[in-house]
Amino acid sequence: MSPTTLSNHPNHPRDPDNLNQGDKIQPATTAQSSSSKEKKAESHLKSTVPGFTSDLVMYQTTLAFKEYQPRFTRATIDSSNYGDRYSTDVDGNLLDNSPLVVLHETTDSVASAINTFRTPHYHDSAQVSYHALIALDGTIINLVPSDRRAFGAGNSVFEGAKGMETVKTNPNLPSSVNNFAYHISLETPPDGRSQPNRSYHSGYTDSQYKSLAWLLALSNIPEHRITTHKNVDRSGQKIDPRSFDFDKFLTILHTYRQPIVPEISTPTN
Ligand SMILES: [Zn+2]
Repeated sequence: MSPTTLSNHPNHPRDPDNLNQGDKIQPATTAQSSSSKEKKAESHLKSTVPGFTSDLVMYQTTLAFKEYQPRFTRATIDSSNYGDRYSTDVDGNLLDNSPLVVLHETTDSVASAINTFRTPHYHDSAQVSYHALIALDGTIINLVPSDRRAFGAGNSVFEGAKGMETVKTNPNLPSSVNNFAYHISLETPPDGRSQPNRSYHSGYTDSQYKSLAWLLALSNIPEHRITTHKNVDRSGQKIDPRSFDFDKFLTILHTYRQPIVPEISTPTN
């Protein structure tokens, strides 16, 4: 991403889209493949977090889920770019938000994103991260454990069934969804990198949709708590993930997990 492009993007506190904002480029070797990737992914998503309660819906994975085998890797990022989830806000109010999934796109390559997250950021407003990246080939790259708080969104609010949800944990920054969010970012296709300000691009690969659905099939986070950065943003500047086909994603998700409804006997084929 060029400095010229960056000048079109005013300060985005704790907001990792539009990456490599003057950071030095470092070798971006993602971690090795895991032979027990499913187990690692599961523990990654199902960690128990104080004040991070699960929703009532329970799901079970399907045969189609088991048959899809995404590559799953891990990359270490600088500890300045993520933090703890808080049990109270800046005013001391107890927090009990359910988990929220926020989808993003990287705007640049996953290697560029990892370089940025590996760069120490000592000022609160510059700290950035996602929990996971999904590369164009469908590789899932775990960056921040789900029980930690990634800095994926700046000024943001989720409007859900319980009303407006946003948490202020830092007196110097706007309130955001970060304290209860799990941030996943899709690698932007090449044509979207060259035109980061255009409202659309050629879209994401089938492997990206499958891996995203596979990752979320490991969780009990209901569909109504899966949203986009564009939807929660209150800065008026975030439009990601551009060209995301929510219907396509949900169709795949439904093939990978199904709700457990013990009261009703469902016929089997
Ligand atoms: Zn974003």
